[in-house]
Amino acid sequence: MKKTLWLAAPFLLLPALSAQAQSSEFNLICSAQAAWCNMLAVTFEKSQGVKVNMTLKGSGEAIAQIMAERANPKTDLWFGGTGDPHLQAAEQGLSMEYKSPTLPKLHDWAQKQAQQSGYKTVGIYSGPLGFGYNTELLAKKKLAVPKTWADLLKPEYKGEIQSANPASSGTAYTMIATLVQLMGEDQAFEYLKKLHGNIGAYTRSGTGPIKAVARGEATISISFVHDGPGEKAQGFPLETITPSDGTGAEIGSMSIIKGARNLDAAKKFYEWALTPSAQALGAATLQFQLPSNKETKVDPRVPDFRKIKLINYDYAKYGQTAERRRLIQRWEKDVNSLP
Ligand code: PLP
Repeated sequence: MKKTLWLAAPFLLLPALSAQAQSSEFNLICSAQAAWCNMLAVTFEKSQGVKVNMTLKGSGEAIAQIMAERANPKTDLWFGGTGDPHLQAAEQGLSMEYKSPTLPKLHDWAQKQAQQSGYKTVGIYSGPLGFGYNTELLAKKKLAVPKTWADLLKPEYKGEIQSANPASSGTAYTMIATLVQLMGEDQAFEYLKKLHGNIGAYTRSGTGPIKAVARGEATISISFVHDGPGEKAQGFPLETITPSDGTGAEIGSMSIIKGARNLDAAKKFYEWALTPSAQALGAATLQFQLPSNKETKVDPRVPDFRKIKLINYDYAKYGQTAERRRLIQRWEKDVNSLP
């Protein structure tokens, strides 16, 4: 009797111990809005019993960190941020191939993002690029609502516009890639040079300009328009518009880092993040991107893509390392060096 008990006790303990050893925590870089990232981390910790060590980074900063950690990865999973640098991570062999069983439940654009990367990333949300504007400031300054990219160059908007810096922000890189696809590269850079004269400040992250506009610190932002309804819901005098001459959309993505030390926990989060209930946490924290799981309830405040003139954004091309690096360097040299 005694002998049996002695043998059974460690055996019974084994599953609990090994589960704990495998899945107790993981390191996450989150490149979405802070409120959403925090909600994801807290809900996952509570519901799955896995600790999340989270760092918030813009998409450009995130890829820079993941590259720097290449020889000794500390990050296990990268959630959110624009799709181009996730494709770049895939191309550079920085992310791990993983074919989720949930893939067939995702919209085509999210599955295509996975296919294009050799299943090293996946689409988790999508949102269109446009302009945010402070209705009170526009009225006070007797300025019209900008309706096209060309409108942003009008002299009366001098110093009134905020954009992010494309070296650190995926939003701003999406703007450059969108303009290059709309106008051709040389014309796009002529445009960006002129726009530079109207920019009051470039921010580190793409989340900054629309918040500044909502709070009256700037008049117009170049931003993802799905960030607008959340600011409005908080009572700020903010509206958004997408340029009538056409615009790009991001495919916010998620990647498991190659060499992740906490792989099982990272995979657990990855699968959880693709479920409708986890995806609904975006709208719960006033983030109105279009979720990638077709079964996720779509909040009525999510921008209606059918009403937006979208370009056929070439994600494969603009997600290439060489292309992204070249365009950002050209922007630094030709545009950001100007007074
Ligand atoms: N915030 C929101 C709401 C986004 O949709 C995205 C892009 O996926 C980001 C932030 C990324 O920010 P950044 O432009 O700093 O890379």
